[in-house]
Amino acid sequence: MSQRIQSIRGMNDILPADNAAWATLERVAARVFAGYGYEQIRLPIMERTGLFKRAVGEVTDIVEKEMYTFEDRGGESLSLRPEGTAGAVRAGIEHGLLHNATQRLWYTGPMFRYERPQKGRYRQFHQFGVEAFGQTGPDVDIEQIAMAARLFAALGVTGMRLEINTLGTPDERADYRDALHAYFSAHPETLDEDSKRRLDRNPLRILDTKNPAMADLVAGAPTLREYLGAESSAHFDGLCRGLDALGIDYTINPRLVRGLDYYTRTVFEWITSDLGAQDAVCSGGRFDGLVEQLGGSATPAMGFALGVERLIALMLDQNVPLDDLKPQVYLIHTGDTTGARVPALAEALRDALPDLRLRVHAGGGSMKSQFKRADKSGATLALIFGDDEAAADEIQIKPLTDAREQERVAIEAAAGRIAALLEP
Ligand code: ATP
Ligand code: MG
Repeated sequence: MSQRIQSIRGMNDILPADNAAWATLERVAARVFAGYGYEQIRLPIMERTGLFKRAVGEVTDIVEKEMYTFEDRGGESLSLRPEGTAGAVRAGIEHGLLHNATQRLWYTGPMFRYERPQKGRYRQFHQFGVEAFGQTGPDVDIEQIAMAARLFAALGVTGMRLEINTLGTPDERADYRDALHAYFSAHPETLDEDSKRRLDRNPLRILDTKNPAMADLVAGAPTLREYLGAESSAHFDGLCRGLDALGIDYTINPRLVRGLDYYTRTVFEWITSDLGAQDAVCSGGRFDGLVEQLGGSATPAMGFALGVERLIALMLDQNVPLDDLKPQVYLIHTGDTTGARVPALAEALRDALPDLRLRVHAGGGSMKSQFKRADKSGATLALIFGDDEAAADEIQIKPLTDAREQERVAIEAAAGRIAALLEP
């Protein structure tokens, strides 16, 4: 036997048995986002590498060490998208969606980052992304935070905690950067290699460190609040008041800086205590400068990304109700003799019951082996269409998952009986 080819580390197959949570989340998210007037956009999973360098930032973990970058056959450098905002902005500019217009958009799909795979951290993972363009006020920030909260509630997920912070404007941040530079420069003995490298290029990134040996040093660093101008302060106060008015609890975390360079003013994270180290389920913020930076006209914007694998882990941990798309009914028949009538019978049942999930046995075999398949399919009912039944224009309905009696009904009456027996 030749050697088997394995999947790529950190890139998972989602098997049918694991699909219920995915399908539930996709259905509920689409409904919640539409409920706030957000429209779906579908974007390529690859972009020119330069887009991510400019949008995400050269001195970020993502661009420095996590991107899947390669040359295509034409010699152009392309990257699998590590996040969705850059592509959404690129598309918005390219198709004139942003100029003198407001947009509320969402998308979903795989993202790619070359990270160390572990629980809640994969190399191909999935996000729901939400972006609003053209609104300056904190009302959109509040709306998106409330929309994420509503999604969690609609799924039945509990125990999420909200942290917010403000990063100010680029000018305010430049002053703050100088202050941070001075503070960290005074403690060279505590800085790790990453932080030393970042000290001159982007000292804010040091606040994002996950190195416990640096926790005390980071806790003592100056905070950006002291460097905010009047407008940024008012924006942040407006955000806090808006959340208060909606009864959404939050904590202000001055260390929350986010791993991407494009954020301005509001940043937030929805965090859970139930997933261990990979605790951020949904993260976002304002990126008022990004559209212009990527060649569009100046357009304020606000968005978030939600980690699908982490939210699904929570849904499973918390046993929330999931959509069931398994077959409900398994049709057993005696191949050669009744088989010719089976397709028409099955189609007639689907005509009568458009939501019915009916699997028709294929491949012949004994009644006993067909019943085994029926049980394995998870179906609630088996339909039996043997020679006797066919001769009488009847069908037998056998409940598989409880002790209800098997019934024999006329074919015309079958759809009605199936519907009644499937009633919860
Ligand atoms: P983390 O701090 O956990 O690395 P991040 O700040 O890099 O997260 P974002 O770029 O903001 O994450 O992505 C938004 C969300 O996507 C995160 O809150 C998380 O739920 C999810 N996410 C990010 N990276 C991964 C990954 N490698 N595997 C699974 N989910 C991820
Ligand atoms: Mg990360």
